[in-house]
Amino acid sequence: MRGKPVNSVPRNKFPVWHLAGAVLLGLLAGCTPPEPLQRFWSVESLCTGPTVRIRIFQQFEVSRARFDLSDGALVLCDENGAPIPRPPKTNYVYVSLRENQVAVAFEPGPEAAQQAVKFSKIWVRAVDARLVFIKLSVPELNIRRNYEGGGIEVSVKYGRLAFVNQLPLELYLARVLPSEMDPEHFTAEALKAQAVVARTWALKNGSRHGRFGYNFCDATHCQVYKGRFLVSRRAERVVKETLGEVLIYQGHLAEGFYHSTCGGNTAFVHEVWGGSPVSYLSRVEDRWRSGNRPYCARSPFSEWTIWTSLRRLQRLMKAEHWMGETEELQDVKVDMVNFSGRVQRILLVTNQRTRTVPEESFRRLLNQEFGKTKILSKFYEIEVDGQQFKLSGKGLGHGVGLCQWGARGMAQHGFGYPEILRHYFQGTSLAEHYGNSRASGNSPTSTP
Ligand SMILES: [Zn+2]
Ligand SMILES: [Zn+2]
Repeated sequence: MRGKPVNSVPRNKFPVWHLAGAVLLGLLAGCTPPEPLQRFWSVESLCTGPTVRIRIFQQFEVSRARFDLSDGALVLCDENGAPIPRPPKTNYVYVSLRENQVAVAFEPGPEAAQQAVKFSKIWVRAVDARLVFIKLSVPELNIRRNYEGGGIEVSVKYGRLAFVNQLPLELYLARVLPSEMDPEHFTAEALKAQAVVARTWALKNGSRHGRFGYNFCDATHCQVYKGRFLVSRRAERVVKETLGEVLIYQGHLAEGFYHSTCGGNTAFVHEVWGGSPVSYLSRVEDRWRSGNRPYCARSPFSEWTIWTSLRRLQRLMKAEHWMGETEELQDVKVDMVNFSGRVQRILLVTNQRTRTVPEESFRRLLNQEFGKTKILSKFYEIEVDGQQFKLSGKGLGHGVGLCQWGARGMAQHGFGYPEILRHYFQGTSLAEHYGNSRASGNSPTSTP
C-alpha cells in the first residue's frame, strides 16, 4: 500500500474529472480525517504484530458492491496506490465487474457503470497507517457489513470480483474468536487458551492461500470471519492479554489444532489425518485422574445416542450397493478402533456374508439420512438388539489438540491457560512471538 507520488495518477483516465482532479488530489493527499476513529476503539493495542489478508465472500460470485466512504479517514486508490479523484460530496463508490476489470462509479445504476473508469485493482484504505471502518454492501448476497483494519482491496479473480480485507492479525483473532468459542459461555482462561492456539495456527498456516495473494479465506476452511459482525469485548480482552503468545515445540511454532469436545481423551494426529506421529499431538486423558469425569463432561456434545432399526439401515445399505438385493442385514459391529479409541472400520453381517466398510463412509451415509441427529465424532460404540440399532457416542470433532469444552472444565477447576495448553499439547511451551515488549512487525505471514 505504498503511495505513489501524486503526479503519477493517469489523469487521462478521468475525462470528466480531469479539471477538478488536481484540486481533489490535493485535498485527498493532504486530507486529515476530521476524527481519528481509533480513539474511540478498544482495539488500538491489537495493531501490534503482523498483518493478514483475508479474502472475503470467497465462495460467492460477486459482480458489484458499494462502499460507503463518508468516513473521512478513507481514501480510494488505484492499483499503484495513488488516490482516485472523486467528485465532491460523493459518499458512495460503486464497483462492478466490467471486461475483467474493476469499474469504479460514483453513481448507482447500469448507466454510470457503463461509463465507469476501469482498473485492474482498487483499494479502499486508510489515509495513513491508521485503522479504518469500512461499510460495504453486496446486493447480490444481500449483505451489509462493516470491516476494519488497513483497508479492502478489490481486484478480479476468475471472472468475479475478489475482495481482500487487510487487518492486523491480532484484530482478526479478536473477530474470529467468538465464532470458535462463545465468549459468553466460556471462562477467560479457556478463551485465552483458544486465542493462543488460533494465533499459533494462523502464524503457522499463513501461506494457506498464499499463491492467490491472501492468507486466509473467511469460511470454515480457514476460520469464519465476518468483519465486525461478532464484536465481543471479552474476546478483544483475551486476545490483548495473550498478545503475541504462541505455542512452540523445540523452538518452532506448534500445530494449533482444536476441536469442540474430545469425549474423554484426545486423538493422535496421525490417526486422524495420516502422516507421522507428532509427540505433542498425542492421546491425552482429559481428566484430573482416572475414574473422574472428563473435563469436557459438561459439553452438550459429551454423550449422544442414535437409535434406529436394522431395517432402515438395510435399505440405506442396499441403495449404496453395500448389500445385495436378496441379503438381509443381521448385525452391525465396530470392526476396528484406533489407539485413541475412535472407530476405524465397521463390520456388516448379513444372512449370506460379512463385509467391512470404512468408518468415514458409514458415518457419511448415516449422517445424510439422519440430518440433525448426526454422528458427531468417531468415538462411539454400536449395539444391536434384535431389530434395534443403537449407536452411543462421545464428543464432537476430530479430537486432535485442544478440547475446547475440556479447556472450559479445566478453567473452572482453577487452571490457567498455560496449564491448559500444557495439558493438551504436552511438551510444548508458551512463547511471546511478538508483543509490547518486542519490536513489532515480525511477520511470518508475509503479505503477498
Ligand atoms: Zn481457507
Ligand atoms: Zn475433552
